[in-house]
Amino acid sequence: MMKYQEIIDCCYRGDGAAKLEMARELAGRYGNGLLREKIVVEKLTVLRRLAASLDAHMAAMDMGRTCSSCAARVDGGCCSFYMGNENNDALLLLMNILAGVEPSLVCGNRVECCFLGEKGCILLVKPIFCLNYLCSHIQDCTSTAELLELEKRSGALLTAQSELEQFLIRFMQTES
Ligand code: SF4
Ligand code: SF4
Repeated sequence: MMKYQEIIDCCYRGDGAAKLEMARELAGRYGNGLLREKIVVEKLTVLRRLAASLDAHMAAMDMGRTCSSCAARVDGGCCSFYMGNENNDALLLLMNILAGVEPSLVCGNRVECCFLGEKGCILLVKPIFCLNYLCSHIQDCTSTAELLELEKRSGALLTAQSELEQFLIRFMQTES
């Protein structure tokens, strides 16, 4: 059983490695209990569906090609070392573990995000900033209708992530 402030303090401190270690610790302590909750299983199913729906729209917008050519440029790309350390938290990484992602530190060049793999981000549940970020390269080559649809799908995913996060916090406050 943890107090609210204790959860927030331990989940948001440190770099990406420390947050991952905390997420693994929380998964060891609460993971089995959480996965026995019907609501968690349902919400993880919804998360996977919404993430797939967002990915499909991004693929239809050809964002992969835009981002690949951007990331290939010196100073290009936006998945920075800072992002992996500061915009992540242990609750988000715990949600990935519950979803079966097994996050690990796949990038150690201290320039890019530690969760940026060779084929892109390895996380299913991504930080809010990563889902909300719309750079000028993307905006310039996308229609208003496509951007609105992107916003709609990322908004739905963020709402689902936030609902699951709130449940995890309540669960940790009541279960030992
Ligand atoms: S989102 Fe924008 S800044 Fe980030 S890699 Fe793609 S094109 Fe580049
Ligand atoms: S999208 Fe993934 S790889 Fe990129 S900054 Fe966010 S967490 Fe890191």
